[in-house]
Amino acid sequence: MKKTAVIVGTGAGGAAVGKELMKRYHVVFLEEGKDFHPFGLPVNGLASLRKSGLFLDERMIHTLFPNMIVRKSKDMVHVNGRGVGGTTTLATGNAVRYDGALRELGIDLDREFEELYEELPITTEHEKYWDTSTRDLWDAFVRSGITPQVTPKLLKKPDCARCGHCAIGCPTGAKWDTREIIEECVALGAELRKGCRAVRFETENGRVTGLRAVEDSVKLDFHADLYVLAAGGLGTPEILSNSGIPVTETLFGDPVLAVAAHMPGFHQEHQILMPFISQHDGYILSPYMDYLSFFFNKKWRLPITDIASVMIKMADESVGSVRKGKIEKELTERDKEILHDGVRTASRILKNLGARKEDLFLGTVNEGHPGGMLPLTEKEARSLHSPLLPENLYVADATILPRSMGNPPILTIMALARKIARTIDI
Ligand SMILES: Cc1cc2nc3c(=O)[nH]c(=O)nc-3n(C[C@H](O)[C@H](O)[C@H](O)COP(=O)(O)OP(=O)(O)OC[C@H]3O[C@@H](n4cnc5c(N)ncnc54)[C@H](O)[C@@H]3O)c2cc1C
Ligand code: SF4
Repeated sequence: MKKTAVIVGTGAGGAAVGKELMKRYHVVFLEEGKDFHPFGLPVNGLASLRKSGLFLDERMIHTLFPNMIVRKSKDMVHVNGRGVGGTTTLATGNAVRYDGALRELGIDLDREFEELYEELPITTEHEKYWDTSTRDLWDAFVRSGITPQVTPKLLKKPDCARCGHCAIGCPTGAKWDTREIIEECVALGAELRKGCRAVRFETENGRVTGLRAVEDSVKLDFHADLYVLAAGGLGTPEILSNSGIPVTETLFGDPVLAVAAHMPGFHQEHQILMPFISQHDGYILSPYMDYLSFFFNKKWRLPITDIASVMIKMADESVGSVRKGKIEKELTERDKEILHDGVRTASRILKNLGARKEDLFLGTVNEGHPGGMLPLTEKEARSLHSPLLPENLYVADATILPRSMGNPPILTIMALARKIARTIDI
């Protein structure tokens, strides 16, 4: 009979580790959220309600869109997905290899990336279907002396509907997310417990003896041979802390700031988000319609058709923490310098697009790539297991990334999680 592995979370890390463990274990996924449903209300209709008080605080989005969780810290808003598929359901589908920091530690993920490139629908073919606004933005980058790259996307249909809603859930199913892996695992015999929140581990003599969880208000204890935490960069540290396992105050999140311009009739809303990316020192730039700013930031009270927007996504310093649901995080002086540089470059691009200086405005700083509170070190390059963890407990999500990437992390988290599953010998 196969041994049992309990995996907490069904996002990038949980799905990837689970798929590989299925070969040797009976897998049970615990997922705090329920099924994912894309945001179903009409964006244009809701936009007319922006002055009504319905959109006072970003955290209110949860009432309209239960799969999106928004929290706030001093300088920014934090976004993550809750539900089957985790935050991959909110992703814009970018599939970028970015494992330099792991390679520096001596972790070789070549095999895992090769396999993922074979298995996943990663494509740059969406370029064929770009509309005028995307092409104009590309030209404005080039005129600013910047050479962008077409973004490889997790896209089953490159000729998708181009509704621009990637970050609030794809209504057509064109975009790939980890629900596909979870469905595949369930079809092969894995168990999926939806609405089941892991709370803490019970440990004895350096081993986990049980996992306390709550499902539909009922307390449950799970007993397994192996436990893998993949509850995300904000969820995993909470469960570790609840279990008396120390984490470090090294939270990062890749803060994003959109620089926008009032450009009547530009129509950026009908393009796939982040169609191309340019790399800079400490940040990336990419066209991005920022819905959080559009709904909640007063400066954005323009018709969506009249906004041109370029996002800065930066690699922040690992300074911050989450405890009992409260996130402590602020931008350091270095983070602010990087953002200022990004604002200067993005403003130059928008001016080369035809925007006037006085028509430029900024979005709300938000982050959606939390991680880093149990970072891997060189000593763990072979075991991929922190000595702080009980021997039959592994972490396989963004929590163990050594530092902020300032780049889309899904593919790298998946490659690392797959390698962890292969390394486990319990
Ligand atoms: C708007 C947005 C767009 C993005 N776009 C991209 C992109 O294009 N490309 C890219 O590479 N990255 C993107 N990201 C980031 C990426 O989605 C995340 O970094 C990645 O999904 C993190 O993987 P993870 O496994 O660490 O956590 P997650 O994918 O967040 O998965 C964690 C899971 O654990 C569950 N969970 C949490 N706590 C518990 C608990 N106590 N018990 C049980 N279950 C629990 C959650 O519900 C969730 O399903 C984006 C993020 C956002 C917010
Ligand atoms: S733009 Fe394409 S991939 Fe994005 S949500 Fe719309 S249909 Fe899906």
